Amino acid sequence: MRGRSTLVTCESCGRAVPRDKAVIYEKAISFNTELKTANDVRFFERRKVYYCISCAKHRGIFEIKKRDAIRKAARRGI
Ligand SMILES: [Zn+2]
Repeated sequence: MRGRSTLVTCESCGRAVPRDKAVIYEKAISFNTELKTANDVRFFERRKVYYCISCAKHRGIFEIKKRDAIRKAARRGI
């Protein structure tokens, strides 16, 4: 790859984007096995997905990230 940055695939449009230009978004996915037993398991997974800049804009990822950043800053007492 001649020292170029790794390509990642945009979750939305499937385009290959250099990782340093992609927007990383952590998605929480919940699973429910739907087994009607005592072992009925519900579990969550946090999956990292990548979006290209235009999809991130389109999906409001930047707004979510901004909101998260503000929330984190508020928690730190800034
Ligand atoms: Zn995209």
